[in-house]
Amino acid sequence: MKQAILTAPKTIEFSDVPKPAVKSNEVLLKVRYMGICGSDIHAYYGKHPFMSFPIRLGHEMSGEIVEIGSEVTEDLRLKDLVTIMPQEYCGKCEPCRSGRYNICNTLNVIGCQTPGAACEYFSVRADLVKKIPANIPAALAAAVEPAAVGVHAVRRCGSVKGMNVAVIGAGAIGNVTAQAALAEGAKSVLITDLSDHRLALAQRCGIPHTANTSRCSLSDAIHEAFGSGGADIFYECVGIGATVDQAIECSKKGHDIVIVGVFGSKPPVNLAWIQDRELRICGTLMYVERDVQDTINYMSEGKIHMEPLISNVFSFREFPDAFTYIEHNSDTSLKVMIKM
Ligand SMILES: [Zn+2]
Ligand SMILES: [Zn+2]
Repeated sequence: MKQAILTAPKTIEFSDVPKPAVKSNEVLLKVRYMGICGSDIHAYYGKHPFMSFPIRLGHEMSGEIVEIGSEVTEDLRLKDLVTIMPQEYCGKCEPCRSGRYNICNTLNVIGCQTPGAACEYFSVRADLVKKIPANIPAALAAAVEPAAVGVHAVRRCGSVKGMNVAVIGAGAIGNVTAQAALAEGAKSVLITDLSDHRLALAQRCGIPHTANTSRCSLSDAIHEAFGSGGADIFYECVGIGATVDQAIECSKKGHDIVIVGVFGSKPPVNLAWIQDRELRICGTLMYVERDVQDTINYMSEGKIHMEPLISNVFSFREFPDAFTYIEHNSDTSLKVMIKM
C-alpha cells in the first residue's frame, strides 16, 4: 500500500509498504478521507512543539472496516464506515482515572506522536473506533473529530443552556464551537472574526449573529447581538493575547472565558481584571468519548453542519499540493480534505 511520510519541513515522501497486520484487538480500515488541521500545518512547516520528523500525519479520518481482529468485542462489522478517536491514553494516571483521558499524562495522539492515517490501509485499536450512521457521508465523517473539539469546549464550564454565547474567531474550531453552543441549547450565539468569508460560512452554518471586528468593537458587536444583557460566556478561538484581552474587557463580572485557541507564544493579558472581577479562565483540549458520540448524533440530526467548512478536496497523490493550497488560501480554506 501507499503511505505518505512527512520527513522534513515541507517534504512529503510517498513509499510502498506492506498492508499492516491486524492485532487481535484491532480493526483494519481502508482509509476513505483524511482532514488537514491546524496542527498538521504547523507540523508541515516544522513548527509544531510536540511533533517531530519523520511522522505519518492523519488524525482526522474516515474509513471502512475491511478486517476485524480475533478478540474484538465492540459491535463492529465489515464495511462499517467509522472514524477514530485518535487518543492513545494510559488509562492509569490521575486524569485517566477521573475519566479525563483527553489530558492523560502520557497522551499520544495518532497522526501527531504515532503514525496516522496518511496511508491506504490503517490498523487501529477497536475501542478507538466510532461507527458513523448512514446519513453522514464519508467526507463529513472525517470532520467529526474537529467538530467534537467544539462540543467538548462548550461543555467545559457547565451547560450553556439559555446563555448568550460569544465566540471570538470563526476558523474551523471557532465555527464548530459556535455550532456546538447552539446544539447544546444556547439562547443565542455571536461569532466574530476579521474575515467576511469566514463569517459568511458561519452564517451558512446557522450562527445567528456575526460581526467583523475590523469594522466595529467587540463590545459594540455584543451590544448589537445581545442588548444590554451582554454575553454570558466567551470562547476565545484565535490563540493570541489581544483577543483574550478583548474577552476579559467585555466579560461580565463573575463570568467565564474558555480558551480554545492554540497559542504560539506567551501573551501578556489583563490578569488584574481576572482577579478583581472574579472571572474564571478555563482551558480545553480535544474531547472524550461522549463528546464524540454526541457530535456524531448532532451531525446526523442536522444540528452541526460540517459541509460548508470543506473548502477543497485533493487526491492522496496531491497531498503536498493541499498544503500549498492552504498556504495561499489561509483566509478561505477552513477544512481541506484528502480523498484516498
Ligand atoms: Zn485536528
Ligand atoms: Zn493516562
